[in-house]
Amino acid sequence: MTRSSPAESEFTFELQVCQWAEREWPPADSLDADTTAIVARQLGVKRRRWDTIVIEADRDALRQRANFGADALDSDLLDVVRYAPADWEWYRDALPYPGYPWRYVREAVHRASDRGIVETRRGANGRIELRRNWRYPDWVERIVAIENKPDLDASAARNLAPQLERDVALALADEVWVATTATGSTVEPALLEDIPVEAGILTVDAERSTAEVAWNPRTLTVEDPGTRITERPSGGDHDASAARFEYADPEWKTDKRLEIAERAYERGWRAYADTMRPDCRHFELATADGDVLPWCGAKGCHPTAAECSGSCSAWEPEPPTWRQRGWPIEGGPGKAIKRLLDRQRHRERPGLEK
Ligand code: SF4
Repeated sequence: MTRSSPAESEFTFELQVCQWAEREWPPADSLDADTTAIVARQLGVKRRRWDTIVIEADRDALRQRANFGADALDSDLLDVVRYAPADWEWYRDALPYPGYPWRYVREAVHRASDRGIVETRRGANGRIELRRNWRYPDWVERIVAIENKPDLDASAARNLAPQLERDVALALADEVWVATTATGSTVEPALLEDIPVEAGILTVDAERSTAEVAWNPRTLTVEDPGTRITERPSGGDHDASAARFEYADPEWKTDKRLEIAERAYERGWRAYADTMRPDCRHFELATADGDVLPWCGAKGCHPTAAECSGSCSAWEPEPPTWRQRGWPIEGGPGKAIKRLLDRQRHRERPGLEK
């Protein structure tokens, strides 16, 4: 059953863009047979979150990544698995000097062992030794960031421009795009003038799950140093202040890209159920072309994550009769919804399908 609300929220548009990207990425041309795309939303670095992220990944390497489990590897665990040796070795010999006390590394080694992604033992003199179970694969090929603006008028484009300029200057993603709603007319030239020339523009027909390129992006040089714009003058007549910049070194960028990819691998774009209220009796999943979007039966719309939260005045618990049979082991429909979304996410991660 497909349903739509009169006014699609940015949140719903974002989910629809994610859904489209998961099926159709890239917008023009196609990925080669060895490459696949995984999609996530609301991820980035401390000062910047992207709406939609596409990770283009090597298929075989992605399947090997599944050996490390469905959960993301954080920066500490990545340092362990990337350098864990094939044969037993004292962890301080095997891993690079961290620049902070070794005890934190030891904790990470134990965490990695608890997750079964390396083996540890007590060696000579009680030293902690480790060896790898699998080589950590080089699975990330490209990272694409998409900013979603369903109503991209001239003023929205002007507001968005500084953020996109920051993304382009830092070049943490290989490509930066703006996705907007397809209106049937061409994108106004004035609007194109406001968006940095390096950013692509995508017009998305959410109902038909199609998208067209209105402007092609430039590939950014992710392996070069990036520029972090920390402060910029407003540009008004009375503002003579200088912009402030920081340097982002390539090693920092490489590490951050991998951390982002790892979080994308874990979260995907269906994790919205974790912050919404699928345990509410009015929460449903409205099916659109075989995939699902949240639907509120009480309000008759696709609710945003903010309104479908603990503070919603229309929230009502699932009736106890809905929780029969497997309850409490399997939970009620709310838990079943989370399981369904988890299954759909795993379906997109080769090696994790089961
Ligand atoms: S009534 Fe509120 S909590 Fe329940 S599904 Fe609707 S928006 Fe979510």
